[in-house]
Amino acid sequence: MIAIKNVSKWYGQFQVLTDCSTQVAKGDVMVICGPSGSGKSTLIKTVNGLEPFQRGEITVDGVSVGAKGTDLPALRARIGMVFQNFELFPHLSVRENLTLGQVKVLGRGQDEANARGLKYLDRVGLLAQQDKFPNQLSGGQQQRVAIARALSMDPIAMLFDEPTSALDPEMINEVLDVMVGLAQEGMTMMVVTHEMGFARKVANRVVFMDKGHILEDCAKEEFFGAPRSERAKDFLARII
Ligand code: ADP
Ligand code: MG
Repeated sequence: MIAIKNVSKWYGQFQVLTDCSTQVAKGDVMVICGPSGSGKSTLIKTVNGLEPFQRGEITVDGVSVGAKGTDLPALRARIGMVFQNFELFPHLSVRENLTLGQVKVLGRGQDEANARGLKYLDRVGLLAQQDKFPNQLSGGQQQRVAIARALSMDPIAMLFDEPTSALDPEMINEVLDVMVGLAQEGMTMMVVTHEMGFARKVANRVVFMDKGHILEDCAKEEFFGAPRSERAKDFLARII
C-alpha cells in the first residue's frame, strides 16, 4: 500500500534522509524507532506529502506522492495523521473538530459528519466530552480525540508520530490501548514510537533509523531477538 523507494531529502545542505526504502502492505503495523534527530518524523511526513523530497519515489495506494500534478490534499484526506502535540483546533469544540474535515474536505453533510464523528468519539471512550473544547481535556483525551478525528475521515492508513511522547505517564496507556485496538482490527499503520511494549504487542515490522539511514527493516521477532546493527543493539540496550 505504501512504497518508499530510494528516498533522499535535504534541508539546504543538510541531508536528512539517505536512500531510504521500505514498504508497508495492507494491514501491516510498522513501528519506526531510532535516536532523536535520525529522520523519523521527516520520513513519515514525506508519505503524505507534508515534506517534499528531492530523490526517490513514494507511492501510496498507487498514487505517486512526489509527482507533479498529484492532488496532495486528496491524498492527505485518505491518510490519517496523528502528531505528538495533538494539533486539535483550539477554538472548536470536540464535535466541531471531528466534523470540520469531513464537511470541508470530503463534502459530507453535517448530519452524516456528526454521526460518524460521534461514532468514533464513542469508540475512544469520549462521547460525553463532545461539547468541550480541547483545553478542557487532558492530554490523553486530546490525543484520543485526534485519533477519532482521523478515523472519521475513513483513512486507508494511519500515520502516528510519537503520539504518546508528550503525555504524562498515566495517560500513555489510554492512547496506546486505542492504537492496539486499531492494529488488531487490521488498520494499516506506520507508528514512530519508542513504546517498545506497543511494538512487541502489535507491530509486525520494525524499522530502525539512524542519521537519516534505515539500518534495520525486519520482522518484530528479528528486531527484538537479534538486531543486526550495533547501533540498534545499543539503542535497545538503552531504552528497554
Ligand atoms: P526525528 O523525528 O528522528 O527526531 P527529524 O525528522 O525531526 O528527526 O529531524 C531529522 C533531522 O533533520 C534533525 O537533525 C533535525 O534537526 C533536522 N530538521 C528537521 N526539520 C528541519 C527543518 N525544517 N529544517 C532544517 N533541519 C530540519
Ligand atoms: Mg520526530
